[in-house]
Amino acid sequence: MPKIGVYICHCGENIAGAVNIEEVKKFAEQLPDVVVVRDYLFMCSDPGQEIIKEDIRKGLVDRVVVAACTPRTHEPIFRKACEDAGLNKYYFEMANIRDQCSWAHWHEKEKATEKAKQLIAAAVAKARLLEPLEDRYVELNKDVLVIGGGIAGIFAALDLANAGFKVYLVEKSPSIGGNMAKLDKTFPTNDCSACILTPLMVEVANHPNITLYTYSEVESVEGTVGNFKVKVRKKQTYVDWEKCTGCGACLNVCPPKARVPDEFNEGLSLRGAIYIPFPQAVPKKAVIDPDACIRCSGRWFGEEPRRTKDGKPILAPCEKVCPTGACSRDEPRDPNGEIIELNVGAIIVATGYRVMDKKHFKEFAPDSPNVITALQMERLISATGPTEGKLIVPSDIPKYLEWKRKIEKGKEAKLDVRKPKVITFVSCVGSRDERFHTYCSKVCCMYMLKQAMLLKEKYPDLDIYIFFIDVRTPGKDFDEYYMRCRKLGVKIIKGKVGGVQRLPDERLLVRGYDADLGKPVELISDIVVLATAIEPNTDLKDLARKLGINVGAEGFLRERHTKLYPVDTMTEGIFICGCAQGPKDIPDSVAQAKAAAASAMSLLAPGKMKVEPLVSEVNPEKCTGCGICAPLCPYGAIEYVEIDGKRRAKINEAICKGCGVCAAACPSKAITLHGFTYEQVLAQIRTIARKGVIEEV
Ligand code: FAD
Ligand code: SF4
Ligand code: SF4
Repeated sequence: MPKIGVYICHCGENIAGAVNIEEVKKFAEQLPDVVVVRDYLFMCSDPGQEIIKEDIRKGLVDRVVVAACTPRTHEPIFRKACEDAGLNKYYFEMANIRDQCSWAHWHEKEKATEKAKQLIAAAVAKARLLEPLEDRYVELNKDVLVIGGGIAGIFAALDLANAGFKVYLVEKSPSIGGNMAKLDKTFPTNDCSACILTPLMVEVANHPNITLYTYSEVESVEGTVGNFKVKVRKKQTYVDWEKCTGCGACLNVCPPKARVPDEFNEGLSLRGAIYIPFPQAVPKKAVIDPDACIRCSGRWFGEEPRRTKDGKPILAPCEKVCPTGACSRDEPRDPNGEIIELNVGAIIVATGYRVMDKKHFKEFAPDSPNVITALQMERLISATGPTEGKLIVPSDIPKYLEWKRKIEKGKEAKLDVRKPKVITFVSCVGSRDERFHTYCSKVCCMYMLKQAMLLKEKYPDLDIYIFFIDVRTPGKDFDEYYMRCRKLGVKIIKGKVGGVQRLPDERLLVRGYDADLGKPVELISDIVVLATAIEPNTDLKDLARKLGINVGAEGFLRERHTKLYPVDTMTEGIFICGCAQGPKDIPDSVAQAKAAAASAMSLLAPGKMKVEPLVSEVNPEKCTGCGICAPLCPYGAIEYVEIDGKRRAKINEAICKGCGVCAAACPSKAITLHGFTYEQVLAQIRTIARKGVIEEV
């Protein structure tokens, strides 16, 4: 007969505050096969675990039931204690009398106590039927896929590569760098963003352990930890990257009709259909945007060229100037690009964020070119921005670009643009707003202070106003940063902006409320900068679905546990970092990236991994080959094979996650989920149905 020990945890006051421990103890003592019942303040503590180990070592118990918090975090701890004391660790069962009992019924002590008894009785009923199981080991592929080449993905890739792991870095745009590449200077030190980012981008491109796939996206993911099979679509660039030297000769010949908003400049300028995303792009290669290209030569890739009267082929301007023939139209190009198949052991998702579009905020005159987002302001003040960092009102950028074009062509031209005198910043646009996002975007207060400070340092005569709900600057050196900004003369107003009106002369009337003065204020501003919310990318949900990981209610990737496993996901072997997990600044993105890389390393370094034996198994004698189970398995672990001329289900142990869907669905009861057999689960259900009375087995 089994000898069951029941160990009841107080969890400080968490359980003992709502459950009468003494009463539950007395109840547990009379349950069949229970030989020992003990309670302790914190069962998971060292002395708490020692109590269990001591009973096992002395031979008092050979099955262990711990009634405590959640198996999600604590089951491995107690299993290990059993194993350390010499007991098969699957002779262990846990009753969750905290999350599912005391916390849920905090003000109903009697009911909570009653429920705790039933949960413990159910756990004991199952413990009587437990079987010893052995861990399995699976071989791990040590290569890692990093998705997203922003600062988070770059750091994750470099840390892994420097430790000797082979890394595939997949980035959907033509260059790595992400949003940090668009920033001018970075808080809290105001060092130049490109100066610290560009060397890292180059290091990624040159690292022997990193294979970089830019302009590429993950198409599908199969398999599990240690053995993910990933298909990556390398999109068609329409420029032969083997030949393209990034000389840039093609960039300016693209005609005005083929010009579209430049993503890198956040739409403040135009780029040609053939473009290199930005001067420091890595790789620095041109791409033809097929939707923007107007096919000047009347010919697409692989088509017969049109000819002049004397029979010479008519070339597109880009084709004509390219010194290497990289965008020659002679060869056909598959618009679907190319599929690359990768085999990796772990995946790190670092796909970052986007900022909310100003168009959502009708009250802030989004149609005015002088109402811009903060990311557009970064581009406006950046030396690589549309005006090379010269501050002018955005409505005059086209005039500036026209002037520049003439000057570059050696023509005479006069620059007639308006310089702003007043700039107003509006905080929490779409963040902390019931209509859009209730969360705080975390970095906006700091970057508004940064932009105001940079502007004021360069143009001391500028009048700068920042409207805040409240200033949030927690962090090392952050509050000092705020004080520095105030000292420079930036006017910080506690209050909300209710509306912005576009005036006929393209200036803006800002109507706000000054909470300190307790009255409405109005001011005329040349530029209004909206600190629009940081949002998850639109394709993040789709990527999460492919990877089998979760997104939270706000759309960012959800971590396994907020405090204990902040870069893990519920899918073993897949880690997350940076703004894909939630809004954060660069230091926090880098810290998370390093944590994700370290987690992937510690998982993969041994080359093999212990896997719990709690997986399903088919009994071919009982299986009728009805075909119900395989389509239900969310992990694709079931296939049908022929055994003695009959179709039978077969489960791949390495893929099975032990979810139990197949076992529950099989009409012939041919599938056993080890650790959750029919008998064990039914014993639990019957015990609860009979209000804590265990049936004799
Ligand atoms: P990102 O920079 O967004 O990079 C993600 C990368 O993943 C991108 O290259 C993207 O193209 C790629 N990607 C997306 N989806 C996919 C996909 N499906 N497949 C493949 N690739 C994909 N922080 C500071 O510390 N200091 C500052 O001064 C500062 N200023 C800021 C100013 C503004 C206006 C804003 C909006 C933010 C600022 N931040 C600042 C925050 C900073 O931008 C972020 O912390 C940082 O960029 C996050 O890096 P990331 O790698 O997580 O994301
Ligand atoms: Fe631009 Fe070349 Fe297309 Fe003409 S053919 S629109 S130059 S990319
Ligand atoms: Fe590349 Fe040719 Fe354009 Fe130079 S001209 S950047 S080589 S495509």
